[in-house]
Amino acid sequence: MLGYGMSLAGRWAARGKLSILIYHQVLEAFDPLRPSEPVAERFDWQMALLARHFTPLSLSDALAQLQAGSLPPNAVCVTFDDGYANNLTVAQPILQRHGIPATVYVATAFSDGANMWNDRVLHLFADSDRARLKLGQASVDLGDWNSRRQLAQRCLDELKYLPWQERTARVDALYRLNEIAEQPPLMLTPEQVQALTNLGVEVGAHTVHHPILKQLAAAEQRGEIEQSRAQLEAWTGRPVRHFAYPNGRLGRDLDQQTQQQVREAGFESAVITNPGVAVAGTSPWLLPRFTPWDRVPWRFQARLLRNQLVPTA
Ligand SMILES: [Zn+2]
Repeated sequence: MLGYGMSLAGRWAARGKLSILIYHQVLEAFDPLRPSEPVAERFDWQMALLARHFTPLSLSDALAQLQAGSLPPNAVCVTFDDGYANNLTVAQPILQRHGIPATVYVATAFSDGANMWNDRVLHLFADSDRARLKLGQASVDLGDWNSRRQLAQRCLDELKYLPWQERTARVDALYRLNEIAEQPPLMLTPEQVQALTNLGVEVGAHTVHHPILKQLAAAEQRGEIEQSRAQLEAWTGRPVRHFAYPNGRLGRDLDQQTQQQVREAGFESAVITNPGVAVAGTSPWLLPRFTPWDRVPWRFQARLLRNQLVPTA
């Protein structure tokens, strides 16, 4: 069903266009608070499909070939944001089995056992034995998973654009108020980051504290960008060449100054979260990506194809 139309479309449409996929976690088991995060089984068929119908490349190779005009048809890169431990324990063996290179962008402040603020917020809503949650003065009925997801999303939306120090303090306060214990660490340790690179996965920088860079003064932006890189290079003993802007929406989360800082810090590329494909004229510091959230193979494949067919800016 897929093969003929696929390869036909691939031949005329997708040469010189690079699709970059964004993942975050690959879960061992379905999580009702994260229904769009793939479990191992879904990730496995997605990677099988990429290996069969597309040309997966490392980001470094893909960018070099894009600039040289030698990008193969249906070129695709797989990237992961934030630096979850399951990138090593769950995703990497699947990537290896299918021979697919990948890049993992790590926010370095979370490699010492602390979890990211968004995962900490979700965990507040995750205990099915808990019926109510205090949110400051008010308390809410948690209800079923659907209701919990909506409440958690509202909480995430409210906190996302606060300065990261205040965001952390607000989440700390919710844990104290409700007397909830932190969940075990979710992120890669420095040793695991090194293990990933030893297995051939490219590691990129994603700042230290995962702030919205646009909101920071120039010196603070520079610190977040340069420190994360220095830390990752110390952990891996390798140059860190690629960067991912936290949150990553051009205009809203990063601006011209942010791009300039990333260029001056010496990164060869930076990825955003605006959807699209990269072509020869795309700025290497503004590479678009998209999230393959589909749960059935034909939709996943159709979305990848459609992504390559869209006119590029
Ligand atoms: Zn991120």
